[in-house]
Amino acid sequence: MKKILGKIPAVFSGKLIKREENCRICDETSGEQIAVVDYWNIKTSRLVKCPVCNHIQLDPMLNETETAKGCFAYYIEEFLRTGKEEQLKNHVRNFRRGVVFGYSLKRKNISPRYGLELGPGSGYFSAGLMFVFPGIEISIMDVNMDVIDFNREHHNYEVIQGIPDNFIADLAGKFDLVIARDIIEHVTDISKVLTNINLYLKPGGYFHFITPNGHEDVWKHYLTSIFTGSASELLINHVNYYDGTGLKNLLIRKGFDTVEYYTYNFKYTLRGSGWEKNQKLMSPVSKRTDAGMLINKAAGIPATGTAKENILHKWYIQKKAKWITYLYSLYQHFSLIRISPEFNVGHEIRGLYKKSGHANN
Ligand SMILES: [Zn+2]
Repeated sequence: MKKILGKIPAVFSGKLIKREENCRICDETSGEQIAVVDYWNIKTSRLVKCPVCNHIQLDPMLNETETAKGCFAYYIEEFLRTGKEEQLKNHVRNFRRGVVFGYSLKRKNISPRYGLELGPGSGYFSAGLMFVFPGIEISIMDVNMDVIDFNREHHNYEVIQGIPDNFIADLAGKFDLVIARDIIEHVTDISKVLTNINLYLKPGGYFHFITPNGHEDVWKHYLTSIFTGSASELLINHVNYYDGTGLKNLLIRKGFDTVEYYTYNFKYTLRGSGWEKNQKLMSPVSKRTDAGMLINKAAGIPATGTAKENILHKWYIQKKAKWITYLYSLYQHFSLIRISPEFNVGHEIRGLYKKSGHANN
């Protein structure tokens, strides 16, 4: 353990370069190149660390068309890889996470009436939240029509087609809660996104997110770069790798106060992710995987159509004894060990922030 602690957090070393695009957080024009990545066969780009705010991002960034193509290919790749059984299990896991989150709000005397989830996937996290707060009205925002249709038909949510980077004036001041789970690592301009979320919230509203610990998430690409000198493969569009302190500072600057902020899940840290220079932890060298070919396969994919009641037909999901649902969900998903994200260890960063009303752009 002592050996590990001495090496954490590891320091990246790369060559100093002039960026093609300024840092989206602090506008810095120089950067440290820590890896080269291929986003499918769509674009070759660099992972650049900002010497001022420590944010790591793609330079140049993917544009909307590139992102859409790669995301769609990834969606299909994941669908083919996981299979239906596993997807249904994931729905239930997300439902339980929503239950745990809902009760954590309840304990703080927070009862949201209008919620907006950005990039909801299956929508089951919000369904779990709704189990705790039956009166809540959920809206979801996504760019993918499959996701939008599923959420409307399966959950009856209000649906909005869009991306978090683009401000939608109709949504201003409408929500008590905005949820972005595994979203902010994908967005082009995090500064804009946080400004928009802040505007969508009512005064005193809450913002909940989870996102990978950037330091650990980027480690595999860094290793490929230092061991092979080649580009690594970026199949999922993680275009932001957050530094724990940098993200917190940005949230505060964007008009949020910290309610909860911590990292959890140290399984990968203990295996060396984020600090050990071990070739086994490398991201594969890029094969420039063909996104278009995968998209052509999509035609053969059957639509998923299992009813919600069947998916949630579990002994512990009981509307008349919600405490059973809560305790079982807590048992499955509670993270006992929590560390401040400022240390940049752990697998994921979890945040709950409150709109303070004085954004400082
Ligand atoms: Zn910066």
